[in-house]
Amino acid sequence: MLPLIVTVAAVGAELTPEQTPHLPITPEQLGETAALCQAAGASMIHVHCRNDDGSNTADVGRFRDALAAIRAKSDLIVQFTTGGAIGMTVAERAGPLQLRPEMASLTCGTVNFGEDVFENSFPIMRGILAEILRYGVRPELEIFDAGHLSNAKRLAAEGLPMFPAHVDFVLGVPGGLDASVRNLVHLVDALPEGCTWSVAAIGRDQLSMATVAIAMGGHVRVGLEDNIYYSRGRLARNDELVGRVARIATELGRPVASPAEARELLGLPVPAAAAR
Ligand code: ZN
Repeated sequence: MLPLIVTVAAVGAELTPEQTPHLPITPEQLGETAALCQAAGASMIHVHCRNDDGSNTADVGRFRDALAAIRAKSDLIVQFTTGGAIGMTVAERAGPLQLRPEMASLTCGTVNFGEDVFENSFPIMRGILAEILRYGVRPELEIFDAGHLSNAKRLAAEGLPMFPAHVDFVLGVPGGLDASVRNLVHLVDALPEGCTWSVAAIGRDQLSMATVAIAMGGHVRVGLEDNIYYSRGRLARNDELVGRVARIATELGRPVASPAEARELLGLPVPAAAAR
């Protein structure tokens, strides 16, 4: 069976250190998390950065330190967010791309996000994609709502190189599409030819939707960005969430991809040791 790519979304933009003591804040903590998560079965890490006080940042220097720390401690595919946090400008959101991570997220539409609005108009999407392409970074399309896939197809129709792509379905955000098997099947059916996909479900849906994705032949994203609990009332570490889906995959007969296997599946070039 197709090896399973497990992405760990270890930090996110919304969580505070008060909500969980397991949130990696410093570049050193991100490096340690990367090592633990790779050992547990992850092949990719989705990165947001924080200041020492836990506040969100798009500072290029902080991303540079985070990238160096992760690469020093792991072989994980490094994927930067370009979602940033609510209220950031396009220039802020795209700034860290100059560090040329292997991948970067590209959110394919505006969505309500709790009480906020996560704004991704067509001009914002085109602007961030232009920066992604400028630095030779591979986009991962983030789909929070069924219409977001239509938006991505609209950009493709303009001639932008959207597909085939690695697509992440982020389901269950308050304001986005609910996490359900029916919704996931609909989205997978609507994918253009040649795409790979993963599912990132929010909160307690993370585990059940990940299990469904494993059985369907998709890939999974787990981690504190999307869910801070291992079980009801018990806070999780990132590597515990990775380890659990890796065990489930193994039980289902699905091998877990190493970072090298994940690069091969995604068609990413093998990084030169010095450049990584
Ligand atoms: Zn994110």
